[in-house]
Amino acid sequence: MVKQLRVEQFIKPDAMSEGFKNSVLKAGILAGGLLGNAPTHDYSHYDNNSSCPECLDHLDKQDEIIQARDTVKFLKDNPDIIKEPFWSSALNHLHGIISGSGFNSTWSAKNNKVFMPSNADIYDPGINAIVAHERTHLKQAQKYGNDISFAFKYATNRKFRLNMEAEAYAADYAWYVKAGVYDTKEILNNSAKALSSAFYGWAADTPEEAKALILKYYNELPKK
Ligand SMILES: [Zn+2]
Repeated sequence: MVKQLRVEQFIKPDAMSEGFKNSVLKAGILAGGLLGNAPTHDYSHYDNNSSCPECLDHLDKQDEIIQARDTVKFLKDNPDIIKEPFWSSALNHLHGIISGSGFNSTWSAKNNKVFMPSNADIYDPGINAIVAHERTHLKQAQKYGNDISFAFKYATNRKFRLNMEAEAYAADYAWYVKAGVYDTKEILNNSAKALSSAFYGWAADTPEEAKALILKYYNELPKK
């Protein structure tokens, strides 16, 4: 965890060439056994003292490689995170179109499993925060019945949806606060904006309402 935080400060995904990004992604995915695509080079053996010429060639990208490798390990250590099933991906795309946010697949959770979309950013340690968010929804589904009754209430009751999302965003926010290297003010503002947008079916009337509720749940969280 500590290593991921250190690495975060150096991540510059925009600076990566598309080809390189793809090869690291494939290597990471292969190492995680998630998709089984053939890698052009397996960076999973990479470390600071690597003597592999291919890795040395990309020394300027070592932070991305380390992050991708740590993410793969994180996924291996957390078997409740699985590759998003096709039906869920189809639903998420449909939701993206209806809400006007486009073809961006999103993380979700059902059946005591966290569903990771195939386009998840494995260079971003923020995956930890998303997982905390989705695990909160799994707990909520148990608390309020089961996946189906929870999903029904979530879809049909705006106030309920707002409260569930605010609690989940509080868990997500807590991870960023603890990490200590993020602009948490901006993260909170973005979460609040999302909750008052079409993406969440205008769960909140205003970003201010959403923000206050996220902070309320955040303050109720046990501080470790
Ligand atoms: Zn959520």
